[in-house]
Amino acid sequence: MNTRAPNLTWPAGAGVASLRSAARIAMMVLAAALGAASGSSSGASDIRDPTPEFKVRRKTAIFPDITRADVTLNIDVAAKRATVAGGMDIEIGEADGGAPLLDVVPPAARFVAVDGGERVALIEVTSPDRGSVMRMVDAVLAKGVHTLDFEEYALREGTDATTRTSLEGISFVDGGFEFQTDQDDTKPRHFTERFFPSGFERDPYPFKVTVNVQNATAAQSPDVMTNGVKTLVTDGQRFEIAFPEDYNTSSWFLHVIDRNQFAFATGEYSTSDGRTVPLTAYGPRQADVDLTIAGTKRLIAEIEADYGPYPQDFFLVAVNTTFNDPEEYVGAAQIRLNADGDNPIRRSALRHELLHMWFGRSARPYEGRDGWVDESIAAWRSDRSEPIELDGDYVPLAYESRYERHTPDESYDQGTEFSADLDRLFAGQGGLKPVLRAFHERYADRFFTTEDYLAFLREKAPDRAKLDELIEAKVYAGAAPHH
Ligand SMILES: [Zn+2]
Repeated sequence: MNTRAPNLTWPAGAGVASLRSAARIAMMVLAAALGAASGSSSGASDIRDPTPEFKVRRKTAIFPDITRADVTLNIDVAAKRATVAGGMDIEIGEADGGAPLLDVVPPAARFVAVDGGERVALIEVTSPDRGSVMRMVDAVLAKGVHTLDFEEYALREGTDATTRTSLEGISFVDGGFEFQTDQDDTKPRHFTERFFPSGFERDPYPFKVTVNVQNATAAQSPDVMTNGVKTLVTDGQRFEIAFPEDYNTSSWFLHVIDRNQFAFATGEYSTSDGRTVPLTAYGPRQADVDLTIAGTKRLIAEIEADYGPYPQDFFLVAVNTTFNDPEEYVGAAQIRLNADGDNPIRRSALRHELLHMWFGRSARPYEGRDGWVDESIAAWRSDRSEPIELDGDYVPLAYESRYERHTPDESYDQGTEFSADLDRLFAGQGGLKPVLRAFHERYADRFFTTEDYLAFLREKAPDRAKLDELIEAKVYAGAAPHH
């Protein structure tokens, strides 16, 4: 495995500010020789509100700052086998050190080599309030930087491509191959840790994936669809993808496909601030991807009118692919388009995922307990044509636990009702939309917490008492606020 040299490849001259542009270039450039390397990540400064450490197995479990991670994904088409190996650097800031927490779900990744030597168990632990299950390196490491190398493990293959019930991101149905970092923010441990060793949502770091597709047939044409910077190292066999350092575990989109199984449609969108943004849709049916490109143009224009210029540098969307539960990534999404409906785009979640390009993937939730915010905004404009009245049957949307790493299902309907209430509260200022536009402007390319959002609403609210009543009833729902 190649874990010692991060050797991230960015376009020459790219700095932090233009990393989004770097990813955009990746959309258009398949085999370009990309130039000079960019160096270290921003590291500890990313983590402004560390999740509290806790005691487990007589050790102090701590949240390290991951400063880079590399993995290699080997897909052997003939053997129907996919394996992962990789490593990461972590920085421990605690004076007394601690046992670092991270996550990786596949059961085979049970050991790590620490600093090139000692083999240490990577055990599952539960946070003290049972808010989350994660992995702990079962050794106390000193303050400073450490390298963790993960032993190679196999990804489980899904068995039911129709219901997806056991699909784990790799599929070898009918002699084909397909892998996707298929994520779901409503289920615990369903971000990148589902496949690759990774950190927590609040910790962005440069991540590099090398994909080797071995033993594909002459009729197959391996490719990788991604929102990272893709370099084609060996035609049709080896790809290197470097993701910008401001991406985190819910940002990365990586889909290894046989191009011959997909139809593609491309387009361009001229944003309201004068940029030209490439659009790409792909999926099994040409009619669906053509419709999706047309719908994307229409919907971005509509959303820009409310919330300002499209904040991403591209949009890449997988339509009705194997892993089609709607989900958003940075500048990318997967959607399900129902060809039988009278308005398939409206039912496709395309509007919902595009709203997340502003709320969720530009202004970003800091951790699991904050994810309800962007769902309450996206769902309000997209999921229902009828008003929702839950009649007092409310649950806490912002989890009490700092360790939760997913968003409650109620974020959609209850969040929609909360947003509709806010729209009425702010009626004298043009409703909720101008407030959200200003919220996005403040938090574009930054993390927000639940408290940041509520403080912003309080700042703008014409009636603080009424707002606090709504927050108490429909956000906290009786649970004690965290701060
Ligand atoms: Zn959503």
